[in-house]
Amino acid sequence: MTQQRYLYDLADGDASMKALLGGKGAGVAQMMRLGVPVPDGFTVTTAACVDTMSNDGDWPAGLWEETLAALARLEERTGRGLGDPQRPLLVSVRSGAVVSMPGMMDTILNLGIGDATVDALGREAGDPRFAWDSYRRFLQMYGEVVEGVPAHLYEDALTALKRSRGAASDTDLSTDDLRELVGTFKAVSRSHIGADLPTDPTEALHRAIDAVFRSWLNPRAGVYRRANGIPDSLGTAVNVMQMVFGNRGDTSATGVCFTRNPATGAKELYGEFLLNAQGEDVVAGIRTPRPLAEMEQLLPEAYRQLIEVMGTLESYYRDMQDIEFTVEDEQLYLLQTRGGKRTAAAALKVVRDLVEEGVLTREEAIDRIEPGQLDQLLHPALGAHGQTPVTRGLAASPGAAVGEVVFDSLVAERRGKAGDAVVLVRWETTPDDIAGTLVAQGVLTAHGGMTSHAAVVARGMGKPCVAGASEIDIDVEGKTLTIGDLTLTEGDLITLDGSTGEVFAGALELVAPQINDDFATVVGWADEIRRLGVRANADNGPDAAKAREFGAEGIGLCRTEHMFMEADRLPAVRTMILASDDAERAAALAEILPMQQADFEAILEAMSGLPVTIRLLDPPLHEFLPSLVDQALEVQRLELGADTHPTDLRHARALLAQIKKLTEQNPMLGTRGVRLALLYPEIPQMQVRAIARAALAVADRGGDPQVEIMVPLVAYAEELRRMRAIITETLAQELASVGRSLDIPIGTMIELPRAAVVADQIAAYADFFSFGTNDLTQTGIGISRDDAEGAFLSTYIEGDLVPTNPFSSIDVDGIGGLVGIGAERGRSTKPDLKLGVCGEHGGDPASIALFEKLGLTYVSCSPYRVPIARFAAAQAALAAR
Ligand code: PEP
Ligand code: MG
Repeated sequence: MTQQRYLYDLADGDASMKALLGGKGAGVAQMMRLGVPVPDGFTVTTAACVDTMSNDGDWPAGLWEETLAALARLEERTGRGLGDPQRPLLVSVRSGAVVSMPGMMDTILNLGIGDATVDALGREAGDPRFAWDSYRRFLQMYGEVVEGVPAHLYEDALTALKRSRGAASDTDLSTDDLRELVGTFKAVSRSHIGADLPTDPTEALHRAIDAVFRSWLNPRAGVYRRANGIPDSLGTAVNVMQMVFGNRGDTSATGVCFTRNPATGAKELYGEFLLNAQGEDVVAGIRTPRPLAEMEQLLPEAYRQLIEVMGTLESYYRDMQDIEFTVEDEQLYLLQTRGGKRTAAAALKVVRDLVEEGVLTREEAIDRIEPGQLDQLLHPALGAHGQTPVTRGLAASPGAAVGEVVFDSLVAERRGKAGDAVVLVRWETTPDDIAGTLVAQGVLTAHGGMTSHAAVVARGMGKPCVAGASEIDIDVEGKTLTIGDLTLTEGDLITLDGSTGEVFAGALELVAPQINDDFATVVGWADEIRRLGVRANADNGPDAAKAREFGAEGIGLCRTEHMFMEADRLPAVRTMILASDDAERAAALAEILPMQQADFEAILEAMSGLPVTIRLLDPPLHEFLPSLVDQALEVQRLELGADTHPTDLRHARALLAQIKKLTEQNPMLGTRGVRLALLYPEIPQMQVRAIARAALAVADRGGDPQVEIMVPLVAYAEELRRMRAIITETLAQELASVGRSLDIPIGTMIELPRAAVVADQIAAYADFFSFGTNDLTQTGIGISRDDAEGAFLSTYIEGDLVPTNPFSSIDVDGIGGLVGIGAERGRSTKPDLKLGVCGEHGGDPASIALFEKLGLTYVSCSPYRVPIARFAAAQAALAAR
């Protein structure tokens, strides 16, 4: 049996091996194949990490021997040796997952430097100071990452040394100072871990690779994976590459660039660099870098080569690339290339341009879009305002945000989750701020560039972000933020415009986003490809109009209960519920009818020419009454009141008695939907009349109303048969009285497991089905849609007991199975039966993929998710080809 191979030299890999070599490893290997200059090295595979994790942290057999052999080959090729006092080899040890997780895992640089090699490095570079600086950086990184020494212990030692030397910055420290600092750092490490750091560099390499494996499991990486739907089981690869130094004086540099502008998608130079610095200095945002264009003057040959390489890489990958580079003594090296993270606007522009440049087909372009990301385009911007910004920074991630200032990621996380609008304000963000960023409205940093973590992470999430607003002074302890004369305290309101980099005090007004030409063009291609229809859930005129603007092809669910809850109608609704006889009930319903009619008219007008599915009243009646507790307290208050009028007390008691009568232990499983309609047929009768009158009125005004009536919560075919009779009879009466006709299909929701199973029987009385996957999930899994997410379900999700929240993304095997049964059995009775979905899953890309497979007719979702559904439906259709 051949043993599994856990390691590849860069020369043996290529872009197709991403699953094994990770994005970075496969990318560097491919660059080597394309003749792009990269440092030499090897990659330990993701499989090695996975096997180590599943083996309680022990390396699989053979891995260390393979590592030593690869190291020997690297030494041979470079003519250097790890720990060799004459010609030392120094390596970087970097993580590299299959899906890029910027900054979430660990890296160790300069491995191989030590007492034995530091002098040789200084000699070769002609700069002993550089060698001692590299040494102290190594001790710090190794101590932190491998041994878990708190970072601040090294920072404190550095600050103390600078203070004692009167040095303003690190660069003011002399070679001797740095030599002393190396001694201090060794002592810091020793006192924290109780032993010396290994002097044998191969042992250090073993531990460094192991630490990178472990960093896959660190909490921030876990949060990032959950937020981005990356499975925990993938593991990371580890890249061991010869060090190249961007910090060897002013002919060296390090930088990051994109082949197109990742904020707008424009084909233009975009990037930044730092002279005399190491890569981490750019991404960590500790020094503010210079724009790439300035490199042309300072390092002309490396600049020319970089521009050429950008072209090579973009043509090879046929996508915008995000590139990390280092220049050592005017020689360019690429350290990484990957598909650049971009805003939704940029994503659309890039694929549109690539199609127009003849690089991609329309189908490929659609496949490149991440539907969920389009949400960003639908984020608000600042409206017209006369305000002067209090400061500005870099426009790091577009969109505007308003919220209360908070200075701590944990506070942002807690308050954001509680539903408060907060803006996270940080000196610079670190990957540990991810959880706070996720729930904040936006992020503001005082430091760092466009490629700092704050910017990269915010752009990926579609969070507005202003970075590097250097006039800001933050006092984290005192919880204040000062800009010149202005001081803001935690809790004060602030507004960010991530599209311009401006920051305003107070809350400015936000306006709804505009959909641009790129969007219209690319979504048009999606529409040509998709098979599934996309409708919207909307229950008023403005929402219906918004949905139509976003491309909805009708309304798949118009819920009528909200119309009953509005303040001006609640009294009549309550009178109707509390009526002591038929006449009183009829009078109350007569009062409600014209209001319902007006609602329906607005919706039918906004959707003229497109189908509108109106669902008859669904919720239990007690929802329209005060709560039992409130009413009991009201009765008590009246009983105790000195001047209570007897009539008031009598009414209050009658209401309490009625609430008691209507209250159910499990209202979600109680008298709602069709059950309610069959008990009180005068309610659906009123609604059907209102629907017919609205349709006629809209037609009279020249509109084209296409109304459909839907019955909720049907479990038995007989329920629908009777309900259908009530509806058709009412319609017939209503239309006969005015001598008109209307074609109104009557259908039902399939939202109970029994309904799915007997869908063949139900279909006999239905012109269409719409799967109510919210209730189907609730009743099919047996979990309360009101309570489960606040209770055990979140523990289940965090503990990976369930793959996703089944109320957001359909439980494919279980509830998806029920939808499949319902669809198949329904169509066994009526082959042309229209099948829709109107639960929340109708706007979820993963669920849409299933609905495509099941051959449903359309999905229906909230207006803002309509564009997402159009793209997701196109991708699902492509996947089915
Ligand atoms: C459903 O149950 O999926 C549905 C759309 O109805 P509601 O959410 O109104 O219960
Ligand atoms: Mg329902």
